[in-house]
Amino acid sequence: MTPAGARMAAAVFRSVGIDAEVTPPSDEQTLELGGLFSSGEECYPQKVTLGDFLRIVHSPGFDPAATAFFMPLAEGPCRFGQYAPYLREVLAELGYDQVPVISPTSRNAYDDVTDHAGDMVKRLWQALVCGDISVKMLLKVRPYETSAGDADAVFEKSLSLLEQVVQRRDLPGRQRLNSLVAVVTQVRDLYRSVPARYVKGRPLIGVVGEIFCRLNEFSNRDAVRRIEAHGGEVWLSDISEWVWYTNWSQLAHLKEDGKTLSLEMLGALVKNRFQRYYENRLLAPFAEDFAGYEEPHDLHHQVLLPAWPYLPADGALGEMVLSVGKAAYLQGKGADGIIDISPFSCMNGIVSEAVYHALGRDYDGIPIRNFYFDATSSNMERDLDIFMELAQAYQRRKKRQRRYPAWFA
Ligand code: SF4
Repeated sequence: MTPAGARMAAAVFRSVGIDAEVTPPSDEQTLELGGLFSSGEECYPQKVTLGDFLRIVHSPGFDPAATAFFMPLAEGPCRFGQYAPYLREVLAELGYDQVPVISPTSRNAYDDVTDHAGDMVKRLWQALVCGDISVKMLLKVRPYETSAGDADAVFEKSLSLLEQVVQRRDLPGRQRLNSLVAVVTQVRDLYRSVPARYVKGRPLIGVVGEIFCRLNEFSNRDAVRRIEAHGGEVWLSDISEWVWYTNWSQLAHLKEDGKTLSLEMLGALVKNRFQRYYENRLLAPFAEDFAGYEEPHDLHHQVLLPAWPYLPADGALGEMVLSVGKAAYLQGKGADGIIDISPFSCMNGIVSEAVYHALGRDYDGIPIRNFYFDATSSNMERDLDIFMELAQAYQRRKKRQRRYPAWFA
């Protein structure tokens, strides 16, 4: 998750009386502890998440009887489904087998997140949308601010404001949503008040890829800021996209299992309708701000179908189809280049990379490049220099122009 998404999720847990905290920002100790239980063949996010949990285990005052770890699972061809079972194994090895690892799964779109799943899933969804909105505003404003640090300060303030509402235990459904709409409107106004010079022409770089590595600044060595420092503006694929994808795959599984006419299907469809309604309510105050930055409202038609000729979503599962389909979508929105951020040896990144050449050729020649990350350093600055040159060259000749909010000169 992004720091915003993790903070929103923890606030939702607090809203139902669970004393939840986000693991502290990853650091060198994360890699050291994660490395003690990794052979080197595991995925990089596994090492980072395991290391972060082990930092909690090794922290002063750690109380195994009062602690649980939250590590969701995902279906699909990759190794993410192994993270939680492996964490349980390591905890047992360290003598902490009584520490529960809570693992809702994407198979049922995380419906089993708690005993009171309906309300919790609703709150989580609303909170994640709020977190995504704040990140999107940050990335829209920060490249244009006239005084460095202003947008980051608003980002921090916006998360605190959102947390204060999300974590409240006394807000019933409708009132909760109305309060969230009020606070995101306040967040919008804070971002609008950041002194900035909105001038057209910065290359717009879509960032897709493996969900953890692209959103976790420690793992991707602050790739978004580096792209901004190279003159770009970033459109980062958000967390909501993954939730819409798990909803889509839940419906697909139900059809495969012959449950097209079933109560389960009805429940899944109703959930989809409500999620769209909540998202629309929360996004409504941003209609002018997100003009030209609209996320796909129909994942199947706008993301999965464009990916189908390269990676059919009924066979290729997980982030790879989202990365490829979103790259096509972003080209249609006028992006000047696409960067795929993935962990070194990630099969999603490797499969996507294999089809990006064909995708780029079919989509007006837009430059697409993979950046792989592990704990070692590579010359990212040099690679970004080259990539931004390609993006600028494409910007000069591209057929699809982007749309800007009205206040751009
Ligand atoms: S998406 Fe990539 S990095 Fe993440 S678990 Fe799967 S293979 Fe590993």
